[in-house]
Amino acid sequence: MWRRIWNLKLPNKIKHFVWRVVHNIIAVRGNLWRRGVDINTNCVQCNRVHEDGGHLFLKCKHMREAWALLNLEQICQKLVEQTTAHDVVKVLLSLDRKVQIQSIILMWMWWDDRNKVREGERGRLATELVFAVQIFASEILKEGVHGSRMQLRRIDKWKKPEEGKLKINCDDAFYSEHKPGGWSFIIRDHVGDVIYAGRGVIQHCPDPFHAEIKACVQGVKQALNMGMGHIVVETDAEMVKQAISSYTYDASDAASLIAELKDLLDDNFLSWDVKSVPRSCNSVADALAHAGCVCASEADPEVVGLPDCIQVMVASDLAAPTV
Ligand SMILES: [Zn+2]
Repeated sequence: MWRRIWNLKLPNKIKHFVWRVVHNIIAVRGNLWRRGVDINTNCVQCNRVHEDGGHLFLKCKHMREAWALLNLEQICQKLVEQTTAHDVVKVLLSLDRKVQIQSIILMWMWWDDRNKVREGERGRLATELVFAVQIFASEILKEGVHGSRMQLRRIDKWKKPEEGKLKINCDDAFYSEHKPGGWSFIIRDHVGDVIYAGRGVIQHCPDPFHAEIKACVQGVKQALNMGMGHIVVETDAEMVKQAISSYTYDASDAASLIAELKDLLDDNFLSWDVKSVPRSCNSVADALAHAGCVCASEADPEVVGLPDCIQVMVASDLAAPTV
């Protein structure tokens, strides 16, 4: 079995993960508890059910949603029917390559996410997780893995817009519905110069999606104020792109903001595009959004004189890509 795992065309870190799954030595709370560690064994992600491998990777609510979004419900069901971790991996190894890679990466990313949540970070929504899985899986399927030194996370970087267009990167910061959230945007031209950077606080923010749409509305309004004709809006939330290009979220709580954004775009620009990009392409906006959370409500949205840490990030976006 180990040889078959080792032959998977995946980065070593992920193969080690699969190996730990086979031996059921992933440090889920249920396993720690079995080894005598006195801890609360509720699932880190949903906090409702005893956390063992079967629950965390196959039955936990958000994970079920993620399997379904990837059209892998049947695979998930087949894995649920297995009685041991060893059998689960046996099924994984027997799958068609594309399905196999997606399934393994989903489990691995979910585990990574779970550990971040345990450290107090915000977990990714199922849609965000699935987006990351699809990107990473397609890169692996496309390029293969070149030796064991392959960089695990190929860093996608921010790209300059075409000449004549301006790019608006938007992002949100969200901690919980009981804490203020933040929105931000940064507008840059085709040589990467910053035209405008804005951020602000949202006192009562129900969820990250709201904050993300709010960020886009603010960025697009500013572009309009400045008389820009051709814009590209970038966000790291796939849901925003879906909200703009479909009616999927028109009945959601964020409906009025979505309608406002659609109208702003349709009525005022010669050309526009809304793209979803990996987080690594949106890091400046991400940092600004966190600054937004601690703003006063009445603060001027413009960030005049970017702080050094943000300037470093802007410069890094323009540096040669690290692949
Ligand atoms: Zn759970």
